[in-house]
Amino acid sequence: MTNIPNTFGLNVRAKIFAEYHNVDELRELLDRYQGERILHIGAGSNLLFTNDFDGVILHSAMRRCRALQEDDDHVLIEAENGVVLDELIAQLCDMGLSGMENLSYIPGEVGASAVQNVGAYGVEAKDVITEVRVLRMADKQEVVMRAEDCQYGYRSSIFKGELRDKCIVTHVTYRLNKQLDPQLDYGNLRSEVGDNPTVMDIRNAVIRIRKQKLPEVSELGSAGSFFKNPIVPREQYEAIAAQYERVPHYEQDGGVKIPAAWLIEQCGWKGKTMGGAQCYPKQPLVLVNLGNATPEDIINLAAAICQSVQDKFNITISPEVNYI
Ligand SMILES: Cc1cc2nc3c(=O)[nH]c(=O)nc-3n(C[C@H](O)[C@H](O)[C@H](O)COP(=O)(O)OP(=O)(O)OC[C@H]3O[C@@H](n4cnc5c(N)ncnc54)[C@H](O)[C@@H]3O)c2cc1C
Repeated sequence: MTNIPNTFGLNVRAKIFAEYHNVDELRELLDRYQGERILHIGAGSNLLFTNDFDGVILHSAMRRCRALQEDDDHVLIEAENGVVLDELIAQLCDMGLSGMENLSYIPGEVGASAVQNVGAYGVEAKDVITEVRVLRMADKQEVVMRAEDCQYGYRSSIFKGELRDKCIVTHVTYRLNKQLDPQLDYGNLRSEVGDNPTVMDIRNAVIRIRKQKLPEVSELGSAGSFFKNPIVPREQYEAIAAQYERVPHYEQDGGVKIPAAWLIEQCGWKGKTMGGAQCYPKQPLVLVNLGNATPEDIINLAAAICQSVQDKFNITISPEVNYI
């Protein structure tokens, strides 16, 4: 058994952990472990292992990037799945290329960015992804999928839906802008960056804000936001707004998105602990491992939080974190 890397810092193990350096090696591993339960992971920053994993964990050691195409306005960059997303963004910002700066400091790797449709500060991976190359597990053929065919939604994609466990993302192509088109309307980003920011100013501001709010996983285990922000019908939002002063909210997809952090805080969970798990005091959307949490501690805390949001607001909040 081998320890599985996961940013929650949970002590969980897999029967086999295997890394590959190119797509042919990946094919060989799929052949070798045919019939086994297989899970491909990235940095393990959005996973909650509920138990040891009785199967094969695959991880990519492919870490190259290349420019595919360039015109007066844009550059297409293709990155391999094992590239650390924030290292890629740092490089792009350094080159003055814009589009991903708001996604700075999100943990994890390129492959998962296309699976999760990661998002922060008003930008989502889908805004910059043009194509995703995958290896179909059934016939081990490579297929290129256009972003329009990836069914992107809020923290979701076809890879979390009908293609879950059926293909492995191997390469992602992003389209970057040569001209900066700053997206500063989310949260306090505009006031943090100041006037006439460069792409690097925006990256640095995002990192500063994130460091104030989110725990460093090297110090306190977590998987970032544990729950998705629910989108409720306008009437339901209005009923809540009539009872509380200043309910934070955003119009989205014909409904109203209410931050799950606000709902959780209203239920009194901020800072509460259950076993070794805690609802993080600075950002109640994050559940942390205080050092000796077991998977059950986190599962129990998450379930109790969900139940009280359901009871108090009649809103179902669902996990963003993948339970394995
Ligand atoms: C402190 C902290 C802050 C965070 N902040 C944000 C944030 O602001 N916004 C946000 O969106 N997320 C955030 N996250 C969540 C996390 O960073 C993202 O979900 C990230 O994309 C996960 O990347 P990973 O490489 O760790 O993937 P993993 O957690 O290892 O895997 C995630 C999922 O993708 C699948 N997967 C991984 N690689 C592949 C592949 N190559 N092919 C097919 N499937 C694959 C896995 O099976 C799993 O289902 C945060 C997490 C932490 C710990």
